[in-house]
Amino acid sequence: MSAAAAPKMLARSGAFDLDAVRAQFPILGTTAHGRPLVYLDSAASAQKPRAVIEALTHFYEHDYANIHRGVYELSQRASALHDAARRKVQHFLGAADWREIVFVRNATEAVNLVAQSFLAPRLGPGDEILVTEMEHHANIVPWQLVAARCGAKVVAAPITDAGELDLAALAERLGPRTRMLGVVWVSNVLGTVNPVEEVVALARRRGVPVLVDAAQAVQHFPVDVRALGADFLVFSAHKIYGPSGVGVLWGRLEHLAAMPPWQGGGDMIERVAFEGTTFAEPPFRFEAGTPDIAGIHALGVALDWLQALGLEAVAAHEASILAQAEAALAEIPGLRVLGAPRKRTSLLSFTLDGVHAQDLGTLLDLEGIAVRTGHHCAMPLHARLGIPASARASFAAYTSPAEIEALARALQRIATRWR
Ligand code: PLP
Repeated sequence: MSAAAAPKMLARSGAFDLDAVRAQFPILGTTAHGRPLVYLDSAASAQKPRAVIEALTHFYEHDYANIHRGVYELSQRASALHDAARRKVQHFLGAADWREIVFVRNATEAVNLVAQSFLAPRLGPGDEILVTEMEHHANIVPWQLVAARCGAKVVAAPITDAGELDLAALAERLGPRTRMLGVVWVSNVLGTVNPVEEVVALARRRGVPVLVDAAQAVQHFPVDVRALGADFLVFSAHKIYGPSGVGVLWGRLEHLAAMPPWQGGGDMIERVAFEGTTFAEPPFRFEAGTPDIAGIHALGVALDWLQALGLEAVAAHEASILAQAEAALAEIPGLRVLGAPRKRTSLLSFTLDGVHAQDLGTLLDLEGIAVRTGHHCAMPLHARLGIPASARASFAAYTSPAEIEALARALQRIATRWR
């Protein structure tokens, strides 16, 4: 579908035509174990609309060449599309300057870049990096790697039993040795939407730079990095209807301009000589080697697609799906939803008495229902909750009420038969 066709999707109900949205996702018409696929694992990775799939094919068939290297027309066309994708991301995030957008492989790599290039040079023995108990491993382990190298340590701000940040405790943990704060906008386990504006303001008042992990945020509600006031923000294309293999780091230009390269090679240099090398300006300084050219173009198309659909309309649809799921799961005997935050979006994690999360995932799979099971790359959070694993159902623009009913029916059967 072209971006221009998307507004038609809004026409039928006056707000959001779910059938028309679903029709854009070829995979939703497939089966699993002979049953219609019920895909409830969008927080792990979102499925792709035809617009994105076709953009990849079209790019390889008509526009593909390496970028920023050729004088010939095709390379210049590929380069222009690449540059256009960067500006699309800039506008999507409300960033002041296209040079603030760095393309990497995924959100994880973006955090590693900041940890190694921005933080490591500022980190000394006894220093602290503050994160929260609800972080994904991507916002813990990169900091631990640099902390170990520099004699610093990673400490965690606690969460409440409801699964929210404890802002007073977080403020207390922001001490004189805190050199960085990493905070997740939306928890990939609890669905909690954290008050990141408040958290950022708190940290910046103390002169502590903040990285916001927006991997579960940008696909669910509009984000404006200028209003947010953070120092860095990261997300992955594959969770926002784009291809896998592409991630985005947004950073304040003054930080990026002062940061050394973290990987060396082609494209990131100004001049190379055996006597010494000088480096390109951001963002190119951080983009060594040939990037995922087609994937970055397709990310731009995914953002066009989502914006044409309307993030507010998507958010309203997902809120109604979440409310339906919360009500339906509350009826299942022995099922416990993790956390009860006041503000939650698009996912629910749960345990079922007497059934291990892994078995639960397998039993649901046999009915064609795909959910995530395990620790969801958040082992410290599961330890805090006192459980080894959970199951998670997560939702996207294409999730239907019928799919939630299918999940609830299956859980009801499992709860009566297997407990
Ligand atoms: N942060 C959060 C909150 C996530 O949910 C994820 C992925 O699940 C990541 C970071 C890491 O994303 P990626 O594996 O695409 O780097």
